Amino acid sequence: MSDAAPTTPAAPAAPAGGRPALTLAAPRRAKPPRHLADLAPGDRAAAAAELGVPPFRVKQVAQHYFGRGEVDPAGMTDLPAALREQLGAALLPPLLTETRALEADDGDTVKTLWKLFDGARIESVLMRYPGRVTLCVSSQAGCGMACPFCATGQGGLQRNLSAAEVVEQVHAANRRLAPTGERVHNVVFMGMGEALANYKACVGAVRRMVDPAPDGLGMSARGITVSTVGLVPAVDRLAGEGLAVTLALSLHAPDDVLRDELVPLNSRFDVAAVLDSAKRYFDATGRRVSIEYALIRDVNDHAWRADLLAEQLLARGSGWVHVNPIPLNPTPGSRWTASDPGVEAEFVRRLRDAGIPTTVRDTRGRDIDGACGQLAATDIAQPTA
Ligand code: SAH
Repeated sequence: MSDAAPTTPAAPAAPAGGRPALTLAAPRRAKPPRHLADLAPGDRAAAAAELGVPPFRVKQVAQHYFGRGEVDPAGMTDLPAALREQLGAALLPPLLTETRALEADDGDTVKTLWKLFDGARIESVLMRYPGRVTLCVSSQAGCGMACPFCATGQGGLQRNLSAAEVVEQVHAANRRLAPTGERVHNVVFMGMGEALANYKACVGAVRRMVDPAPDGLGMSARGITVSTVGLVPAVDRLAGEGLAVTLALSLHAPDDVLRDELVPLNSRFDVAAVLDSAKRYFDATGRRVSIEYALIRDVNDHAWRADLLAEQLLARGSGWVHVNPIPLNPTPGSRWTASDPGVEAEFVRRLRDAGIPTTVRDTRGRDIDGACGQLAATDIAQPTA
């Protein structure tokens, strides 16, 4: 890895009119170095054989990494000194280099900008609340979903992250928190990227988060939320994984005419199809689905749309869903802004009156561009640390 000028990720060609194109398959790029967190427990024996060490040595490294949060081989004193460096280099290559950390909310919100091995940039956002810590992670460098109100969507998709690049965001946050005695409890896949378009790596990352040490970080799956624009086949596949993660569905409109514009993937999987898959997810897992709805002034915040949303949800049953309106975080150059507070309140009231549990999302970190939809990793021109 060199610290020379970052390789500029080739942006996918924007179609005429300047709008980014919907891209489902990630471009082929050099893969990040393999890391322990990429390995399922069953893969570790083969990795040990490849390294010429007995399997218990890899398990020892896993105990340090997952169980103790240790990344420095020098601290792995139960390993013979000669093996520490070798196994550290082979199993714990540094994947994320911090280039900036921006704080807001008196330090309770921290946005970290990371440079990856190939110069790609991602961001994660740490949010401390009394008694719990939530980390918003990225699942791809960029995003191919092209939603016009989202900053990440404007730059197109650069590449998928590896499972370890996702897990390392959590591990790094835990390392940052170590002096306070806190740890990340909740992980939301609401940073850059569409996790379900990078299915294998993201489900692998979730397994490394929830499996108990030495196989994983021992987190509760209930604290993990996977957010999607509604890749229906992937939602169904996730329902069958036996993982009790929460599904968040980015709906943003209850009618196809508007949703086709706000979430381009709607032309493949429409409102009815994505809501049906969300209901099947609930039926399979018992986990209440979260409907994300960014309230955009005069675009999707009409009272009739609140009523239509309630109707669509209730048509599929009650008690399976709650709605999370998010005041739109305006992104640079966007013609859209957040709804008026009175309009927002009316939208919420109508859903609640219909019996739909509804909570407006708190928007942490707006002033550091760390709130939902603001992650764009735009400062590649900054000198890196
Ligand atoms: N690809 C995933 C994760 C995206 S980010 C998904 O679409 O669900 C998480 C949430 O933030 C999504 O609901 C997304 O639609 C929303 N979001 C994106 N841009 C936003 C903005 N400018 N203001 C408010 N919410 C936004």
